[in-house]
Amino acid sequence: MSASEAAQVLETEAQVTFRFSDGVEYHAISQPGELLLDVARKNDVPVTWQCLTGSCGSCICKVEEGEVSSDTGRLLSLLPSEAKEGLRLSCAALADTDCVVELDYPSTFSEDHEAHQDIGTVTELEWVNHNTVRLVMELPEDTAFEDFEAGQYVQLQVPGTEEWRSYSMSSTVKELPEMTFYIRVLESGVMSDYLRERCQVGDQIPVDGAYGVFYLREEKVPQIMIAGGTGLAPMLSMIDTLRQNNFRRKPVILAFGCSHEKDLFAQDELEMRSDWMPNLDVRTCVSRPEGEWDGNQCRAQFAITADDITDEDTLAYLCGPPAMTEDAKTRLISLGVKAENIHVELFESL
Ligand SMILES: Cc1cc2nc3c(=O)[nH]c(=O)nc-3n(C[C@H](O)[C@H](O)[C@H](O)COP(=O)(O)OP(=O)(O)OC[C@H]3O[C@@H](n4cnc5c(N)ncnc54)[C@H](O)[C@@H]3O)c2cc1C
Repeated sequence: MSASEAAQVLETEAQVTFRFSDGVEYHAISQPGELLLDVARKNDVPVTWQCLTGSCGSCICKVEEGEVSSDTGRLLSLLPSEAKEGLRLSCAALADTDCVVELDYPSTFSEDHEAHQDIGTVTELEWVNHNTVRLVMELPEDTAFEDFEAGQYVQLQVPGTEEWRSYSMSSTVKELPEMTFYIRVLESGVMSDYLRERCQVGDQIPVDGAYGVFYLREEKVPQIMIAGGTGLAPMLSMIDTLRQNNFRRKPVILAFGCSHEKDLFAQDELEMRSDWMPNLDVRTCVSRPEGEWDGNQCRAQFAITADDITDEDTLAYLCGPPAMTEDAKTRLISLGVKAENIHVELFESL
């Protein structure tokens, strides 16, 4: 499309079709300059969203027909390869022409997963390596969080501040009212400073959620999980959910990667799960070992090979920092995993 054509189409309204994974369609009119998410919310289209800043990825959609541009003035947590494939964040996207956008979840998802607010009480804070803590909180007995999906995240308010940060549960619904998180403690940061300097058993932490469309699809196909650092958290929740649901017929491969040996954590937990689930193959990777490391010496995505893709419908879940997830996605696609079967959660600061 030429620049003059684009300028022309931007001045007209556009017909937007929102198509959900269960085939349900909603039609709405977008006014010039109106963000796709605003169009959806104004017309009661049940899309998911959360941060409204283009950071969290909850409002992701895929352009199937027509032209939809991104408002790049906003922070965008989309990988360049995802944008190329037609993915957009609807809170930062504009319909330039009539278009069809697909949502990777059923039309009932938002209704079935409303956000809840509760107060959690810290019951454990354990340093599991030099810069990662395992935080366990107890929610009230009658907590409404029992509808969260393995893989989703909540927002935690940092005590003594007005700041909220996102964290993926490593525990499952069955463990409620307990919720467990693995959190990397940065050298400086609002939550990191709290965890390092002030957090104590008995502290009360407001919880809001659950959010996100990174959740276990649990179709009866092989599952590949690639986690970098604390990106392991949602994978633990997914693996435990698969185990609780007796998912034993198809392989589940978890590639967990860190830079150095000292960055690894939850090794006992992973070993225990491998014992419990014969179809679970855990591949722990260290990319830059400092000592004698006899495990995989590579980044996690390189622990997956073409031999692992035994089914064209293999599902993949990637979680960790953006550079790792982008690289892992490119690799899986080159090995034959369908792009639409790859689900990604980016651990970026909001
Ligand atoms: C969906 C989602 C799920 C997540 N799940 C997890 C999880 O399970 N585990 C996990 O460890 N993390 C997770 N994260 C990341 C997490 O939300 C936080 O971003 C992370 O813990 C850092 O928070 P913080 O408050 O310590 O740091 P922040 O205060 O947010 O600071 C982040 C960085 O920015 C720098 N910074 C802060 N303010 C400034 C400034 N004014 N100028 C320049 N630099 C600045 C800090 O030094 C720090 O390095 C997730 C993120 C998302 C989006």
